[in-house]
Amino acid sequence: MAIIKNANANAENKLPMYTGYLDETTHIHVIDGNSEMGKGIYHYSTLAGSTSLVKKDGTVITDVEGTCGHHCVNCEKICYARNYSKRNHRGVIPAYIDNTLLLRGNRDQFFKELEDFFKYNFVSCFRPHVSGEFIDYDHFKRMCEFIARHKDTQFYCYTEAEEYLDRAEDEGIVPDNFIVWISCCDKLRESNPRNHRLAYIENGKNPNPDFKDYFHCPKINKQGNKTGITCAMCKVCPKGNKRVVVMYKH
Ligand code: SF4
Repeated sequence: MAIIKNANANAENKLPMYTGYLDETTHIHVIDGNSEMGKGIYHYSTLAGSTSLVKKDGTVITDVEGTCGHHCVNCEKICYARNYSKRNHRGVIPAYIDNTLLLRGNRDQFFKELEDFFKYNFVSCFRPHVSGEFIDYDHFKRMCEFIARHKDTQFYCYTEAEEYLDRAEDEGIVPDNFIVWISCCDKLRESNPRNHRLAYIENGKNPNPDFKDYFHCPKINKQGNKTGITCAMCKVCPKGNKRVVVMYKH
């Protein structure tokens, strides 16, 4: 990977700890699960947010821009993916940079390498971008086309890019094995005309009219602590057999 690690980065010199560029050594990174999702849920991630990632003391973790664009201007501060990336940058940022650069600069190679991964691995469940967002409609559309070729795998994602889902539904290209949850964070929605699946974060006060008939995510308890239940155990989001999922803030 063409990742440059700058050991001398600090708040004063503003050098990024990690930066990178696209070249022939840039490849996709696909991971099998994590501590919250559990094993067997394969995924890739990109840089979250729409700006570079900066620590509290001003040190720039990476100057490569996140993939969320205008979708997350109001939620960067509470974004779990940004916070996780700051805490665990050594383990995740180089892979996130590679995936981000490929999806921006060589999308054909990204999907070819994803196809190769599926050829050589048994993937029963896959989640696009645990961290990050669909970069544009072409990215969402190509994911739909990829998923349609892999009917034996259950795919699911959370996205704020509801306009991409609307357009793909209008074009009739969303495969049955792709469950899309619209991330609402802690916002109130005026309406849900297409009856999309909705995923919320809540603070325990339960003010939202959509919380009439919802499923409470068992991964986090009311105190905001992990319960040890993983998505691989629960399976509600991958299977999409509920319409609204609510998770306590953590
Ligand atoms: S509801 Fe279930 S599948 Fe969805 S995030 Fe929570 S634990 Fe995971």
